[in-house]
Amino acid sequence: MSPSAIQTQDVDLTAAAVNRKEEAPAAPALAQLDASRLTYTYTTSPRAVPDEAVANAGTETVCTDHMIVADWNVASGWTAPRLVPYGPLSLMPTASCLHYATECFEGLKVYRGYDGKLRTFRVDKNSARMRMSAARISLPVFEPEQLSKLIIALLEVDGSRWLPRDKPGNYLYIRPTMIGTAPQLGVASPREAMLYIIITYLPRLDSPVGGMRLHTSPEDMIRAWVGGFGYAKVGANYGPSLMATADARRRGFHQILWLYGPDGECTEAGASNFFVVWKRKSDGKTELITAPLDDKLILDGVNRRSVLDLARERLAGEIEITERKYTIAELIEADAEGRLLESFASGTAYFICPISQVHHRGRDINIPMGPDGQPGKITSTIKGWMGDIMYGRTEHEWAILINEKQ
Ligand SMILES: *Cc1c(COP(=O)(O)O)cnc(C)c1O
Repeated sequence: MSPSAIQTQDVDLTAAAVNRKEEAPAAPALAQLDASRLTYTYTTSPRAVPDEAVANAGTETVCTDHMIVADWNVASGWTAPRLVPYGPLSLMPTASCLHYATECFEGLKVYRGYDGKLRTFRVDKNSARMRMSAARISLPVFEPEQLSKLIIALLEVDGSRWLPRDKPGNYLYIRPTMIGTAPQLGVASPREAMLYIIITYLPRLDSPVGGMRLHTSPEDMIRAWVGGFGYAKVGANYGPSLMATADARRRGFHQILWLYGPDGECTEAGASNFFVVWKRKSDGKTELITAPLDDKLILDGVNRRSVLDLARERLAGEIEITERKYTIAELIEADAEGRLLESFASGTAYFICPISQVHHRGRDINIPMGPDGQPGKITSTIKGWMGDIMYGRTEHEWAILINEKQ
């Protein structure tokens, strides 16, 4: 059916219509998410703060003393958000998120700077992305700035004790989450939801010995598809990817390089964005290349965006910076012609992680690393700039200072 034949009564899920739905303001009569209404109930039994290595050695993610929770329902909107002691949630077995994957989340870090100050990074980008993800799965929307304020409020309370000043260079991970809680089976938009924010430990993943090794996705499996939801941080994207990842791990690889389409377009490395630095085929210029956002296959990573912004600002003239589709065949060709220079994954969990190998259908593509197992020159330059911003070695508008409550 041609677009002109679409009747006005038909469901409209064109890209433009999806954007409109995602950006629609919440109904004005309902209570909005409002960080200024936050109430504080502090724990009476603060836990001992574990050493990072101890915390990450266990089988349960260690969280800080508090979390922030806000509830929503279709009739009245958002409740006042509450800061409460960290602990289990109570959900009915019929809750929407447990059946229909009405769940989305975010991930960002808080950093203890070398100047003793506490900072988070571009939180506005995570909040805006969370709103987009929520809307994509018919969870309630909110003003992104309100979510940012709640994240900062939680950091103000738990930051000092859990990221002590005498341990600069440490970080914790912030996980805002939204779930459909409506206790009603039936495939429908949930009438109740919960937003919560927790702060957790997270292992350091940015420097595996010898670099990260990727295995390309199985021939008969894709992570995301055009018209799907690969661009949203919804839980539904991750469960189905675990089988391939487990297979790759058994074979000694760290992550899957997800390919797409008959030509094997390179999209993402696990749940991180994927970059290659090579000598460009056409003119031999050094080029930093990554997959584009326009077909909504990949996640618009905050780290991806930051890498591109910094490279364009500070490396223009030295290297070309390109967002376009490129295929595994181009990678193999560049390898054969000795044009591959560097590769890395970017994301909050992996930060900037050098990639030393891609295994594709029985063939190894080896990618150079720097001396002593360090990342290559461009990778380490960009990683250094980002780290300097996060840990306060340079001042930058992307770093958000947290006013710690003592
Ligand atoms: C979270 C995520 C990333 C990285 O995004 P950042 O904002 O840089 O942390 C990349 N790809 C996928 C699929 C992700 O889920």
